[in-house]
This record gives sequence, C-alpha cells and structure tokens, in this order.
Amino acid sequence: MPGPDVAVEPLPAPPAFETMEEERRHRKQRLAAAFRLFSKFGFEEGIAGHITARDPEFSDRFWVNPFAVSFAHISVSDLICVDSAGEVVVGNRPVNRAAFVIHSQVHAARSDVTAAAHAHSIYGKSWSALGRLLDPITQDVCAFYEDHGLFDDYTGVVVDLEEGKRIAAALGDSKSVILRNHGLLTVGHSVDEAAWWFITMERSCQAQLLAEAAGKPVRIGPQQAALTASQVGGHYAGWLSFQPLYQKIVREQPDLLD
Ligand SMILES: [Zn+2]
Repeated sequence: MPGPDVAVEPLPAPPAFETMEEERRHRKQRLAAAFRLFSKFGFEEGIAGHITARDPEFSDRFWVNPFAVSFAHISVSDLICVDSAGEVVVGNRPVNRAAFVIHSQVHAARSDVTAAAHAHSIYGKSWSALGRLLDPITQDVCAFYEDHGLFDDYTGVVVDLEEGKRIAAALGDSKSVILRNHGLLTVGHSVDEAAWWFITMERSCQAQLLAEAAGKPVRIGPQQAALTASQVGGHYAGWLSFQPLYQKIVREQPDLLD
C-alpha cells in the first residue's frame, strides 16, 4: 500500500510575536475566549471569578474582566487593564477588589506567570471544603501531582493585599492552589495554559468526589504518577490542551474577538 503523499503537519506551537501590540491583542483574545468557555462550563457564580493576563509591555499591569459583567458576554474590547496600585488604566469599568488583591500578588510573586484563573466552580469549591490536596487517582489529575498547593485558611472575602501575598505563598512554584472553603486558582505561562489547568482541575475535583462517594479509589504509585505528570503536566501540554476549546468557542461565538 503506498504511503501518504502529503506530509503530516507538525503539532501547533505557541506563537511568536513581532510587536508588543500583536502579543497584547493575542493575550486579550485568549482571555475573552477563556471567559466564554468558563461560562459554558458553568463556572460563573454571580459576580465571583476572574482570569488575568499580564500585559506584555508593562509587566506590573494585567488585563482582567470588568466587575459584575457576565463571562458569557465578554469580548476583547470589554477587557480592562489594571496597574499595580489597582487603578484601571484602560477601560471605564471597575475592577473587582478581590481580583486585584489576589492576582496582583500572584503576578508579583511569580515573574514566570503570564496568566492566572480563579472561579467559584462547584466541584472545586466542594473539594476545597475538605482541606486536602488532590490524590493521583486518574491520569488527568497527575498534571497536579506534587504541583499544587493548599491555602489552609479562610478569613472571609479576600480584600487586603496581605491575604493575596499569603495565597501567592501557598501557590509557591506550583501551577495551582486549592483555597480552602473557597475554590481553585491556577496559573500558566499563557492564558491558554492557566485556563486549561483550571478546567481540568475542576474536573479532577469532580472525579475524586465521585470516586470517593462510590468507594475507595486506587492510587497511582508515586513513580508512575511522577512519570504521568511529566507527560501531561508540562507548560506545552497545558497550552496544547486548550487549543481545541479555543477553536470551538471562536467558531461558535466569533463576536468574542470584537
Ligand atoms: Zn473567589
């Protein structure tokens, strides 16, 4: 049988940019898409939740959703930019105080982090109430094996910068943190990656809750969990996993790019 006569394309790779403006536009497009997806996944809870993307030029500023606007309606032109003092420097809508307090401290503590995602999704917050890390019980959750923290405290709605600093400390060098009695927070080297870790971590919380409700889940051994983490938990794997979702939401809701 003759072989294929067309070369197989290489896997997609994160894009490179000629200008800051191009890179900024790209991050904002991914951010708007992430909000639309979070809405479709049912991660909205009233006015709670925020995803941020660091500005490529002014590294102490980040782009974020305007306060009290549905994720389902957010387009690129709705995104606001906030500086290190919490002032809105682009856009005319207010920022959620908790978004500024948490995300500014995470972005400040982690210069490698381009984006951070937080929402009060149902399985994440249910799992968070147990005050436990996730166990390596599925292939997918191994992305978080020895790569997530627990903020083992709850003191009310996060409104002061010290609390944001403590959350950043609990995150440490990892890709995510469980905020006890509150929910999940994930970070990434791209918006794509941070959004994907949030989506899959939420589902991993759901999987462990289901498995423990039904019986006693078998844990993957430490060696296999570490190997699997290296296969599914890297920056590129996180970025790549978001691409089908991005394609889907842009085809479905092209106005998000407006
Ligand atoms: Zn919250």
